Amino acid sequence: MGAAGVRLINHQVRLAARPSGLPKDTDWELTTEPVPAPGPGEFVVAISHLSVDPAMRGWMDDRPSYVPPVKLGAVMRAGAAGRVVDSAHPGYAVGDGVYGIFGVQEYACSDGRGVTKLDPSLDPTAYLGVLGMTGLTAYFGLLDTGRAREGDTVVVSGAAGAVGSVAGQIAKLKGCRVIGIAGGQEKCRLLTGEFGFDAAIDYKSDDLRSALREYAPKGVDVYFDNVGGEILDAVLGRLARGARIVICGAISQYNAGQVRGPANYLALLVARASMTGMLVFDYEDRYPQARAELAEWLRDGRIVSREHIVHGSVADFPETLLMLFNGANTGKLILAVG
Ligand code: NAP
Repeated sequence: MGAAGVRLINHQVRLAARPSGLPKDTDWELTTEPVPAPGPGEFVVAISHLSVDPAMRGWMDDRPSYVPPVKLGAVMRAGAAGRVVDSAHPGYAVGDGVYGIFGVQEYACSDGRGVTKLDPSLDPTAYLGVLGMTGLTAYFGLLDTGRAREGDTVVVSGAAGAVGSVAGQIAKLKGCRVIGIAGGQEKCRLLTGEFGFDAAIDYKSDDLRSALREYAPKGVDVYFDNVGGEILDAVLGRLARGARIVICGAISQYNAGQVRGPANYLALLVARASMTGMLVFDYEDRYPQARAELAEWLRDGRIVSREHIVHGSVADFPETLLMLFNGANTGKLILAVG
């Protein structure tokens, strides 16, 4: 109920059809229903910020993955931050800031499972970016899976994005030489400017292979891969002995239907290299320690958080999601709906 006892309306975005290629408007349905009243042990959240993630494209497909597909007709899965507006849960009071997988809607009812309470001294958007899934992915992918060490040459693709920008900055503060790959001169200027990378390659206009030869003359020790496809093949051709390739994601393949695998995989044999997939959710027990470290780096200005906030409503979600696939975002893409 609203303050005047008026029943509030919840606008939601539901999955209407499984997309083929890039999601279309007809793959979504906008619905409205009354905001539910919390049952015993539940609370209702008014969502202010939705996390917009490449993984959402995979969740729309009906195929086995690390989480079940979103069911047709269900509210689209999304991480979100918001504020408790009604509570019958002893651990959550009206006014508490919270983060959880609340879905693409204005209000969500939760029993508190998988919910993080927000530190009021931090901006809620930090929990979607550097202190959220993307920052934690960068942290564990680079340091745990990639085992990046001082003096390593580290290449990051999708480098001006949410995960890539943090991965590259962590590599810098660990004493690595960092080369970022991103689309367009503007993003490349940002990499070597604000983010402090040593070099940047514009994969849309530079000759990727010759740029890698120039910037990584002794080869690549760690490749943090967010994009897959041709860029992965190019970096495979430049590995140092014992290189570690972190398969964080492959956004170039998410709308492809038939995924293109690495043609150049025998480079792993020659370099005695490893290629390892990582999933951030496997590190849940270590989130508090990683969050504390990331928060300290953020406070000290040793890493810069870049957020790309689109102000709108849940109805803008379908269009906002497409920004990830045409490179319209720089840093963490967030839809502010509050
Ligand atoms: P993001 O990098 O902020 O946004 C996506 C970026 O990908 C775009 O801005 C675009 O940048 C680039 N891109 C799009 N299509 C491309 C293509 N065909 N070739 C090359 N680059 C392309 O997204 P994010 O949230 O940080 O996610 C980055 C990656 O991490 C994704 O693959 C995602 O699935 C993965 N991820 C994995 C985990 C895990 O646990 N393994 C967790 C979170 C995210 P340009 O303008 O530079 O092209």
